[in-house]
Amino acid sequence: MGFRPAVYRLARSLELSGIVYNDTKGVTVELQGEAEKIAEFLARLQSDAGKPPLAEITSCNAVDMPVIESEAEFVIETSDSHGAPLSQVTADIATCRDCLAEMADKGDFRCGYPFINCTNCGPRYSIVKTIPYDRPNTTMSVFEMCGKCAAQYTDVNDRRFHAQPVACASCGPQIRLTDNTGGTITAQTEEVIAEAAKLLLAGKIVAIKGIGGFHLAVDALNSRAVQRLRRRKKRDHKPFAMMTDSIERIKEYAILSRAAGRLLSSPQSPIVLLPKKPDSSIAPSVAEGVDTYGFMLCYTPLHYLLFARNIKVLVMTSGNISDEPLICKNDKALERLGDVADAFLMHDREIYRQVDDSILHFVDEQPAFLRRARGYVPTPILMKKSCRQDIFAAGADLKNTFCFAKQNQLICSEHIGDLEDAEVYHHYIDSIEHLRGLFEVEPKIVACDLHPGYLSTRYALSVPDVKIIQVQHHWAHIASVLVEHGLEGPVIGLAADGTGYGTDGAIWGCECLIASLEKFERFGHLSYYDLAGGDKAGKEAIRPALSLLKQAYGGKFTLEEFDWLLSRIEPDKSRLEMVSEQLEKGVNCVETSSLGRVFDAVAAMLGLGSCNHFDAQLPMALEAIIKSSIEESYDFELINTAEKPLQLDLDQMMRQIIDDIQNDRPPAAISAKFHNTIAAALMQMAIAARESTKLNTVALSGGVFCNRYLANRLIKLLKKDGFSVLFNRDVPSNDGGISLGQAAVAVCLMGGDPSLLL
Ligand SMILES: [Zn+2]
Ligand SMILES: [Zn+2]
Repeated sequence: MGFRPAVYRLARSLELSGIVYNDTKGVTVELQGEAEKIAEFLARLQSDAGKPPLAEITSCNAVDMPVIESEAEFVIETSDSHGAPLSQVTADIATCRDCLAEMADKGDFRCGYPFINCTNCGPRYSIVKTIPYDRPNTTMSVFEMCGKCAAQYTDVNDRRFHAQPVACASCGPQIRLTDNTGGTITAQTEEVIAEAAKLLLAGKIVAIKGIGGFHLAVDALNSRAVQRLRRRKKRDHKPFAMMTDSIERIKEYAILSRAAGRLLSSPQSPIVLLPKKPDSSIAPSVAEGVDTYGFMLCYTPLHYLLFARNIKVLVMTSGNISDEPLICKNDKALERLGDVADAFLMHDREIYRQVDDSILHFVDEQPAFLRRARGYVPTPILMKKSCRQDIFAAGADLKNTFCFAKQNQLICSEHIGDLEDAEVYHHYIDSIEHLRGLFEVEPKIVACDLHPGYLSTRYALSVPDVKIIQVQHHWAHIASVLVEHGLEGPVIGLAADGTGYGTDGAIWGCECLIASLEKFERFGHLSYYDLAGGDKAGKEAIRPALSLLKQAYGGKFTLEEFDWLLSRIEPDKSRLEMVSEQLEKGVNCVETSSLGRVFDAVAAMLGLGSCNHFDAQLPMALEAIIKSSIEESYDFELINTAEKPLQLDLDQMMRQIIDDIQNDRPPAAISAKFHNTIAAALMQMAIAARESTKLNTVALSGGVFCNRYLANRLIKLLKKDGFSVLFNRDVPSNDGGISLGQAAVAVCLMGGDPSLLL
């Protein structure tokens, strides 16, 4: 982004002639001039001062070439040999320092303008309708540039050279404040900001249109206001994200490492999960049952203008109702959020693509994604290989993303959501077409999950005239780690997950795989237990709890004996008996090795709730209460037989947990011991796999590794034992990373071309 103009300016300043152009392999610069100056060019280009702020140079090769023709000047080539434009669509970027300074400068003609942007910042992906990435193909096409803006846009020496969304107060988008029926309260910029700030400080809910969609904003220090938002949004439990305008402010509420500070202030400006500070003044209902806050910094000029009006910290949660897609259009916002928001702070720059905020946390002191969207998409993840044919990977049904492979690029979509919601599914289908168009992909190979009931699988199977590759869920998880690290394997893959369809028709979830991108073998897994009730099993903790207890106690188990515990989880006796009967008769039951459901069961036994109102609510609550000073753990068994993969048996652990509960051990201690046991068990599986295969690299993935305590502890144990450990860094370890893994496997199976190595 802004790379060619930077090259141009550097070459001109050194009086070098030549040309700069983009192609799929990167940027090529041809230079003519004195050798010392060319050497200086190369040195300065790779220095932080020489390269544009958003560019990252992954490698730089220089070769001599014969001079065919003497060049008089330096030029930027903007189209390829066939005349096709070369500019690429990039991610949406947070407002840069230069623009912020101008916005505050009374002498600047964009002073106080809520849409100031430049080549180094502003919306991109969210406003592009089609390629080439040029103003007429964006939602900025309706705004005709004024003379001043146009002069900057066409001046290669200007920071706004070819910045497509460039605008000012006299030619660009405008804001307005409306009531919840769309009636304009005011459209005068300063009044809009002042009035919106006043409403927020008075505890009102304001829907604010941002880069990728609407947020619902409310004062995070005002408990009643936050609770009102929860009620109206029909979101009773899930933690809300918050926004402030400075790192210093965040430090008042959360514990912040330097690395977290850097990530928060990065151009991508994601939400970062940070440990809560004790006694912070944030309303408790912002984030109950978790030990972290999700914070982001202002990332649009409008956010900054608003926070300049005495606002300290806002809840900024996605503008949608429960699990529907994020709302990005003005009319839809009024229609769907009219009952939620008291007022709307909107503008007339259309958002073409809704893009959620990205969410990261820290695992093993490195950033790891929980949701990859705004700021990161559509930046491709590069492979060492190039694929011969374009590939589409459909992803999983929960936390869906999809992925295209084209040449050496893996282009992952933004977080789409849970496909079971009809609107999300339609959004999925639209998004596939949109991204396919932007990157001009023509897939001849389609990769998808094994699950016959997945909507993504059904969609993939319905694509005509393509070769289908079905990739087992946990293999895809491990493959996503491999391809991120530029490896093909084999490695020892530990997948700790909720659910994924297995090759034997069971629901897998705690797997030790010997996996490469080419194939995998199931080395070990958690012993199967029965889950009654299909989809309900992921929500109602009584289902795994009852099953695990029956298994742990065998013939000694009776409902009466465990009534003291079970009635806490499921007070309705008849329902309890029904689930019990289902398990006994095997009605609507499926065998599973899900680890996520074990977490649900233990959380419920400790009285932390009996239902996942949102994904992983119970496991998150279980993690949040851990007393980290406790090193004890429970007993488990690894059972090795010739005919079956290695079995992890947790029956002893379950019985010891029950003993601890009966002996009134505090839940914080039981939770720590439970987490320590799972880490130790996974570690022992890896050791057994190493003994058998002599492999020493372990790749970790799966939704359960969103649990920081578990991931950190296991990584530490593995490293201490001499393993080399790989973790997801470019995509989430939850199902948001599945599509990348599917694509990587498909590239490998179709024979990527190593002669095209970068
Ligand atoms: Zn800027
Ligand atoms: Zn203008």
